[in-house]
Amino acid sequence: MPDPRARETGGTADVPLWHTLPAEQAQALLRTGVQGLDAAEAARRLAQHGPNRLAPPRRRSALMRLLLQFHNILLYVMLGAAVVTAALGHWLDTTVLLAAVLINAAIGFIQEGKAEDALEGIRAMLSPHAMVLRGGERREIDAAGLVPGDVVAVASGDRIPADLRLLAAHELRVEEAALTGESMPVEKDTAAVAADAPLGDRSGMAYAGTLVVHGQATGLVVATGGATELGRINRMLAGIEAQTTPLLRQIDRFGRVLAVAILALAAATFALGTLWRGHPPAEMFMMVVALAASAIPEGLPAIMTVTLALGVQRMARRQAIVRRLPAVEALGAVTVVCSDKTGTLTRNEMTVQRVVCSGQVFDVGGVGYSPVGGFSLDGRAVPADRHPALALAVQVGVLCNDARLREAAGQWHVEGDPTEGALLVLGRKAGLAQGDAQARWPRCGVIPFESEHRFMATHHVDAGGQPWLFVKGAPERVLDLCHAEVGPGGEPQPLEIDTWRRWATDTAAQGLRLLGLACKRGAPAGERLAFADVEGGYTMLALVGIVDPPRAEAVQAVRQCHQAGIRVKMITGDHAETARAIGAQLAIGVGRPAVTGAEIALMDDAALRRTVHDVDVFARASPEHKLRLVQAMQDSGHVVAMTGDGVNDAPALKRADVGVAMGLKGTEAAKEAADMVLADDNFATIARAVREGRAVYDNLKKFILFMLPTNGGEALVVIAAILFELTLPLTAAQVLWINMVTSSTLGLALAFEPPEGDVMQRRPRPPAAALLSGFFVWRVLMVATLMMACSLGLFLWELSQGTDLAVARTLAVNAIVVAEMFYLVNSRHFFAPVLNRQGLTGNRYVLLAIAACVPLQLAFTYLPAMQAFFGSAGLSALEWLKVLGAGLFVFLAAELEKLVIRRTGIVA
Ligand code: ATP
Repeated sequence: MPDPRARETGGTADVPLWHTLPAEQAQALLRTGVQGLDAAEAARRLAQHGPNRLAPPRRRSALMRLLLQFHNILLYVMLGAAVVTAALGHWLDTTVLLAAVLINAAIGFIQEGKAEDALEGIRAMLSPHAMVLRGGERREIDAAGLVPGDVVAVASGDRIPADLRLLAAHELRVEEAALTGESMPVEKDTAAVAADAPLGDRSGMAYAGTLVVHGQATGLVVATGGATELGRINRMLAGIEAQTTPLLRQIDRFGRVLAVAILALAAATFALGTLWRGHPPAEMFMMVVALAASAIPEGLPAIMTVTLALGVQRMARRQAIVRRLPAVEALGAVTVVCSDKTGTLTRNEMTVQRVVCSGQVFDVGGVGYSPVGGFSLDGRAVPADRHPALALAVQVGVLCNDARLREAAGQWHVEGDPTEGALLVLGRKAGLAQGDAQARWPRCGVIPFESEHRFMATHHVDAGGQPWLFVKGAPERVLDLCHAEVGPGGEPQPLEIDTWRRWATDTAAQGLRLLGLACKRGAPAGERLAFADVEGGYTMLALVGIVDPPRAEAVQAVRQCHQAGIRVKMITGDHAETARAIGAQLAIGVGRPAVTGAEIALMDDAALRRTVHDVDVFARASPEHKLRLVQAMQDSGHVVAMTGDGVNDAPALKRADVGVAMGLKGTEAAKEAADMVLADDNFATIARAVREGRAVYDNLKKFILFMLPTNGGEALVVIAAILFELTLPLTAAQVLWINMVTSSTLGLALAFEPPEGDVMQRRPRPPAAALLSGFFVWRVLMVATLMMACSLGLFLWELSQGTDLAVARTLAVNAIVVAEMFYLVNSRHFFAPVLNRQGLTGNRYVLLAIAACVPLQLAFTYLPAMQAFFGSAGLSALEWLKVLGAGLFVFLAAELEKLVIRRTGIVA
């Protein structure tokens, strides 16, 4: 087999230029039969060509990542200070500074690596699938398993999984922007083109990474992985994008402003200390460096990223795959969730329950896909073959159908559209197997189902060679095509359109999904079945009512959303009455009217804004209605999450604050446009993701609420000492030590904080609300002051009692560290008490972080080497009690403040 990759390396005369070859010749060259490749051959070629995957985007090398850690204003200050101290011969300080720099960089390096690993794992979950013909059977496989010579089927919404020579194409239009930059879709067919045709003009080819926006096709894989055009120009498949979020940017900016302010403050302190108070400049210099090091929240951006990444990981475990990080924040602020109905709110396990035809209403027994059950009329069992009209309708349902019904290990399942699967089960219940029907009535053409036109049509020939056209679709669409209906004996009679409409409304009002079935004799006017052939002249056969019960967990999730102040709206392609009935079962839009797409089309934007305020169920809605609905809601100040699955849903998903695509039935186009993909297509997953989103946002806030006062406390101790001419309670080296031990380590535990109990009982966060509210400032100041008071107070008290300076300083250091440990526990909840079992032990990472700090403090206090280095001294049991007392004081004061807030309700 010639290696198509040879083209890459310049090519020779006998290397196939696939776009110039007729399809059959390409097939012959790649030795592929009508059955596709068999498993053994596919495996052999896979070993030869490697998986159909592009090399992952290159991560920054570990060394680069490490070096980048030093690119940080604080570390520049500290490195500068290390140089100055070395020049002055203060080797001890130089060592501490360098150690602090290294530890800071190492922590940042590890945290960033963790965040990247987390996101990397999630990226892999989004790998695309492909429908391939292997050994005569269509199978869905991971696209990485495709090999040259495979025959794959693609349909609208799919991403082309490899470079394909098209074998058959039906109305295929492909958007090739990823390759050519041209965003207008191009028409594809199977024709060969000239050798020098540019990529965009090679109509017989479909290239990996481009998107099918319309139609269906089958194609022969001619190149995979790095050998594809996409691989050649080295464009990366879109994975998780921009790794920053509005909040992260806000924090980054805040951190920088704060750093500059602190440096200014440090300079002022230096001037004050040396010029006014007459401290020796070298000592003051070290002090202000330590001050800056302790006050600048250098770990902030790194820990924020880790918190977000951990949130994303938790969501992924709960089936919500976040593609863009800002979605995590937006999820926490969502005020409206707009959901599809079928498969998201409902189970998507369809069973035909009722068939209305020839003036009779047949009930159908059985549930699920197992073909057990029969037909009954008014409670009496009837064989389907005694009713010609019913038998004909069932046959149309089975033939105008692209699904497959399979039995494996006693279990029946459907491959393809569950609505169509239900018709296959109906066929079996009537004694008609799909294979037999297809053999007797071979199919010659098809117009596949699309939500825009809401029908599917096929062209068949019967045993006598007579052509037939079948159609199935939304009843109003099908009725529009009919001029007659079939009578009980199978004979045509005039169409009683009002009667059919009444039946449709009655059936839909019971929450059943509706399909109309019709047929006509005749062949398509042209070579192929076209829309013009489906414009009229059909005979109405039957109305089919299908149950698709709501998911039990969706009922609960809708309730949760309501409690969380989030409105749930259902936007469905289904009949208005069906939508209302299912909505009522889910508590969506109860007692309110349903509005249809047709009505939306008649409204101007102002009217639509009023409507979205009052209405929760939108039926017979198409993707363009979804887009207008999102806009109307956003214009009314809502933060909108919107689900979608089809290629045409992409604009609405992009526009929504959180676009949510279905992982199972969603097209690649929808997934690409979405911020989040639901691995299980389940509405309950959205509610869980909102809960996680709120929790992540909370954790970010908790971390800041922890970090700022602890940094501030240390800084205040030093500033107060300088201002009031006191002996410095902390040496520069000690300040750096505290910073090393506590700053990024303790706070990180808050990234693991589970959602607070009331997180779904609160109203959504106003999107414009500032992160650092007035309450924030208050709490930061309060806790910083408390910490300063404890540490400084203890130090001064000890000195006044004649305690040795080294001991007093060791007390002061330990008091701050222990107060931080205690305050870490306070920080677990904003307002809720932590003086209970859950509060004290609910996050084991908090306990672990504290436990990790204890030996470090003991080493600092007792190890002779550390004592020599930091000027610390051993403490007695009584002194430890005082330290603990200081920590407990901060803890209780912080709990008291929460109690006052809870009682008075000052902070809403
Ligand atoms: P949702 O938008 O909530 O997922 P939906 O699946 O009902 O709802 P569509 O798939 O757009 O929305 O279906 C709209 C209507 O088209 C259905 O109510 C049904 O009458 C008809 N229909 C659905 N699937 C098919 C199909 N495979 N062939 C023919 N008609 C169909």
